[in-house]
Formats: sequence, C-alpha cells, structure tokens
Amino acid sequence: MTFNYDVIIVGAGHAGCDAAAAAARLGSKTLLITMDMNKIAQMSCNPAVGGIAKGQIVREIDALGGQMGIVTDLTAIQFRMLNRSKGPAMWSPRAQSDRAKFTETWRETLDSIPNLFIWQDTVTELVIKNKSRVEGIKTSLGAIFLARSVVLTVGTFLNGLMHVGKAQISGGRMAEPASFGLTEQLQSLGFEVDRMKTGTPVRIDGRSVDFSLTGEQVGEADFHKFSYLDFTPRPLKQLSCWTLYTNEACHDVLQKGLKDSPLYNGQIMSIGPRYCPSIETKIVTFADKLQHQLFLEPEGENTQEYYLNGFSSSLPLSIQLEALQKIPAFKNIHIYRPGYAIEYDFFPPTQLNHTLETKRIANLFFAGQINGTTGYEEAAAQGLMAGINAHLKAHSFDSDKTPRDESGSSNSDSEFVLKRDEAYIGVLIDDLVTKGVDEPYRMFTSRAEYRILLRQDDADRRLTAKSHDLGLADASRYALLKEKEVQVDSIIAFAKNYAVKPEQMNAFLESIGTTPLKHGVKLQDLILRPQLTIEKLAEFLPEFQQQLDKIPNRKEEITEAAEILMKYEGYIAREKIIAEKINRLENVKIRGRFDYSTIQSLSTEAKQKLTKIDPETIAQASRIPGISPNDINVLLVLLGR
Ligand SMILES: Cc1cc2nc3c(=O)[nH]c(=O)nc-3n(C[C@H](O)[C@H](O)[C@H](O)COP(=O)(O)OP(=O)(O)OC[C@H]3O[C@@H](n4cnc5c(N)ncnc54)[C@H](O)[C@@H]3O)c2cc1C
Repeated sequence: MTFNYDVIIVGAGHAGCDAAAAAARLGSKTLLITMDMNKIAQMSCNPAVGGIAKGQIVREIDALGGQMGIVTDLTAIQFRMLNRSKGPAMWSPRAQSDRAKFTETWRETLDSIPNLFIWQDTVTELVIKNKSRVEGIKTSLGAIFLARSVVLTVGTFLNGLMHVGKAQISGGRMAEPASFGLTEQLQSLGFEVDRMKTGTPVRIDGRSVDFSLTGEQVGEADFHKFSYLDFTPRPLKQLSCWTLYTNEACHDVLQKGLKDSPLYNGQIMSIGPRYCPSIETKIVTFADKLQHQLFLEPEGENTQEYYLNGFSSSLPLSIQLEALQKIPAFKNIHIYRPGYAIEYDFFPPTQLNHTLETKRIANLFFAGQINGTTGYEEAAAQGLMAGINAHLKAHSFDSDKTPRDESGSSNSDSEFVLKRDEAYIGVLIDDLVTKGVDEPYRMFTSRAEYRILLRQDDADRRLTAKSHDLGLADASRYALLKEKEVQVDSIIAFAKNYAVKPEQMNAFLESIGTTPLKHGVKLQDLILRPQLTIEKLAEFLPEFQQQLDKIPNRKEEITEAAEILMKYEGYIAREKIIAEKINRLENVKIRGRFDYSTIQSLSTEAKQKLTKIDPETIAQASRIPGISPNDINVLLVLLGR
C-alpha cells in the first residue's frame, strides 16, 4: 500500500515531536511514524528539561512556536532558575517533569494538530530517486509512504547495543528494539557513519530510601517558566529533589567492579560524553576525590520512582547494587532497574547544510541524536528547525508552479536559518555543520560568543516575529510579544526621563548601603547600581510604582526584562557592534565559487577542510577548525576584497 504526504518525520522522540508539530502547523500534511506510540517523547534519561544553556534553548523553541516549553510547563513537578547569582546571560531555567505526563501531554498536543497523522511502525528503508533525492520511506509492515521531504530523528536506535556489565542487549533504549537497515542504506549512498556511547543511572524505589539522611532541594514558585504564553500557574504538585554523596566504601566496591566494566574491559570502544561521565569514570578520573554528589530526582507526581542523577553506570548489576548499599541513605535500597550504557550509530553532521538537509540527498533532513548531539533540548531544537525547513522545501516550488527541481538543489528563499547572534539554536546548528563533533555534543554557554544577546528573558524579542512571518508563531503569541515590547519600552522611557534629586533619594540610598547622590540624576542611572532594582525603587517612588501598575499582564516578567535591558545596556550594545561586524562576513557567500584544491596559497589542511565542509559564507569558513586567518585573507583577496 502507498500513501502520500508532504513531510514524513521518522521517530517520535524530542526531535521528531517538535519537527512534526512545526511542519504540520505550518500547513504540511505530515506523517509522524514511530516504533511505539506509547513512548512518544520518552525521556530516555533524566526526567528533566532545561539547565545551563539548555534552558535558553527551550525558551527559544517556545519563542519560535515550538511545543517543548509548553509541555514542560504543563508537566513540571519542580522548577528552578539556575545561576541566579551570576549575570542574566547565565540564568538558565530547569524543570523536573512528570515522566509519564510528559509523554501523555505530548501525545495530546500532537493529536490536536489537524494536519498531523501518526503511524506506529518501523522504517526500514528510504525511497531514493537517482541516488540524489528522497521520495519516501518503506516500513517493516510493508507499507510505502511517499513525501516531498523526510526528516530522520531516530535517536539512539540505529544498531543500538546496550551494556550492563558483560551482558549485551540489542536495543534502542531499555525494553525497546534497535533499528536496522537505515545505516547500511545511507552508508551505501556514501554517507559517513560513526558510533557514540551514552549511559543512564539506576532507577530507585523511593520507599526504600532513608530521606532523613539526604539534603532537601526545594523548587521555586515565582513567575518564571519556559513558555512565553500567558497561562495559569503550574498544574501539578511541586516536589523536592534530594542530595546525597558517595563515600569511600562505595568507591571501593566500584573499583572492584572495574575489571568487568564495559568501559574499561574493551567492550565499549565508542566515544561518550566527557562532561557527563559515568560513576566508574569519575572514580578513575578523579581518583583523589573521596565523594561525589548525587541527586535523587522524582520521576513523577504519583510515583515512588526516583532517578539517581550522577550515578550513570554500565557496571554489572551486582556491583551497582552493592556500591549503592554502602551509602547510608540506601542501606535498604530497592531498585527498578540498573543503569546501562548504549552504543549507537550517528552521522557526522558536517554532512548537513544549515537547514539540516543532507548535502548528499536532497529533501532528506537529519535532526537530534542522529547528528551526534545529546540531550532532549538540543534534539528538540534541531527537530523544530528541520521540521520548518522540511516544510519549506516541500513547498518551495508551489507558489510559482515551477516544476520541482530534479536535482533538489537548495532554494535560499525557502530556508529558515538562525545566526549565532540570534539564538543558541543558531550556535548549535552552525557548530554541528561547521565543526562536526568529536564527542556527544551538548550546549554550554561557553559555546556562544554573544551570551549577553542570547538571554533566557528575551528569546521572544529575538525570535517570535521571525516565526510569525513564517506562519508558525500564531497571532496570539505575536500579540503577547508586541504587548511586552510596548510595556518594556515604556518602563525604560520613564526611567530615562524621570529625574531624581539628592534630597529626595539620599536617606533611602544610604539605608540600602549605596552611595548617596551629589547631584540630580535620571532614574535609569540608579537602576544601573547593583544594590538597586526596579522593584526597590518603585516601593520608594510612588510615581514609578504607578507607572508599573499600568502593566496589564505579566508584570514581573516585563519588569525583569526592562531591568536587564537597562542594567546591561552597555554590554548589549558592545556585543551588537561585534556581531554586526562579523555579520558583514556572514553576508559574503562563497559556496560554489572556488575549487579550493587549485588555490596554491591555501594550506593543504585548508584545501581539504574547505572542500569537505563547502562553507556557505566567509564567516562560516573562518569558524572551521584548522582554517587560519591567513587562509581567510587568501579567499578575501580572491574575492577582490
Ligand atoms: C541510555 C541513554 C542515556 C542517555 N543519557 C543522556 C544524558 O545523560 N544526558 C543527555 O542529555 N541525554 C542523554 N540521553 C540522550 C537523550 O535521550 C537524547 O539526546 C534525546 O532523547 C534525543 O532525542 P531524539 O529525538 O534525537 O531521539 P530519541 O528521543 O531517542 O527518539 C528516537 C525515536 O525514534 C524512534 N525510531 C527509531 N528508529 C526508528 C525507525 N526505524 N522507525 C520508526 N521509528 C524509529 C524511536 O522509537 C524513538 O521514538 C540518553 C539516551 C539514552 C538512550
């Protein structure tokens, strides 16, 4: 049987769900095909979304009209803003979610989108025309689905192999089968493929934990959330996380198990995430540390299941259990299942364009873990961008009724790409396609050169209008943005114009430990002081308070946004100037203009790397590892600049 769609998304993980939602909401007749409909948006590892730099990504997904932020807010059982003691560029929202409700809510979300259809099956083959363009997929049930664009978001499932001690189990995730055939077909089409590894910790029965021997970490209950949409407070009961530590006795047991560790006995050879090491790697790498911190994280509102963050392991089950029993709070521990490691295939992402379309096969897009990334947020961000671009590509020739290009070559009017100064999502994708990956890639704030421009508070101001132009962010989201802009600007205008005098302010200023005024200043000058906030000043100045009281909705969110813009105005302006300078190089297109192998003055390494990556712009060329400023000068001279 054969069926026709505009866009097919393979895999309903975090990348697949946001990809499918975006393509369908943009108007493509979309099929989301996945192995198990009960595992939609399954959290393979910890039941948490966000965190440092990842939280900013989720805010961006939301600002663009993606769904991850909304689903996280609806299912959060704990919310915190991390890094509050640092500047606002570093503030990162993080939530624990109810694992089962996260899946359920995603399912409800997808079911509510008119153009979106779900099919439960396993994709075994792509339908490829002339070895150059994808036209659909074939499944294990013998069905053929045709489409103009196909997005592969198959996560850790390609030839997945799990390890618990010496036990090796084929699978894409515990209790789920692996996916075979796609890697081999793509390899035969010339794709490079490699292997990576990741791991997850034990799941614990909370009834067997002595919580009196742990520290409590409560959540926050203020206005912050992931979505910019204006909806009611968190619907679920809010719960605590719990902290505890390993000890020397626990380490002794782990040490004893190393000889049977797949990571140390040669069983696992692929690369794992350095920044998220297993507990056995921690005791080897940091041998002098007598303890490591662990977090017990609740898996849901109505379950006793806990996730033990910090204790990822693929040691034999008996060793994991014995090591845990050495921790006083776990003396009588019961577990649901041990930690395990998984090895899987990925495709080095330098084989992709910035739209996430593969360079080799037109209309075929890759997103998520298949690109060598790790993390739900990184996956969802790529899924959203791939879903948008798959939709655009599928309809790129509809408007002028020109027959669709046989070569499937890219049409720049039908691309949606974010720059590095516009979004962490821009940084993520540019890093992937330009630099490739040498370990599972996760986002860090240090990867972004314009951190003060990419804050969690203003992703809507950076991105919502772009998405609205595209047709994804709907009118109500756009109206909220416009309302926020007006209100923020009016607070700033008030603060810039309102004059204060020493005799009016000095007693108040001294009472809060900040220097008194020598002469009159504008209110904005006081807001720049670290001891002062808009809230404190408004408590003291009734006129300012009246101005704030005019804000009809989301007063705290709007006040915070205005305050950050005023306090960091100088830094923001400076980063904008640097970004604009670099963007001039971003506009110098070079793809297709050079045969690098013939340019004598380029180094051999530069010739090879430029040929392989085939950068779109001079700016992208300058970011390829191994390309020197001298190589860039050579290209600029050849361009007549
Ligand atoms: C054991 C383990 C530990 C992890 N540990 C961490 C961690 O510590 N930190 C971290 O950030 N991330 C971790 N991750 C990674 C995290 O789960 C992924 O980054 C994220 O889920 C990737 O999202 P995705 O959408 O790309 O793929 P997944 O969420 O893996 O979703 C893939 C989907 O594709 C479907 N699928 C696969 N093949 C086919 C096919 N042929 N046909 C139809 N459907 C198919 C699957 O059923 C699944 O629904 C871990 C993952 C695993 C499995």
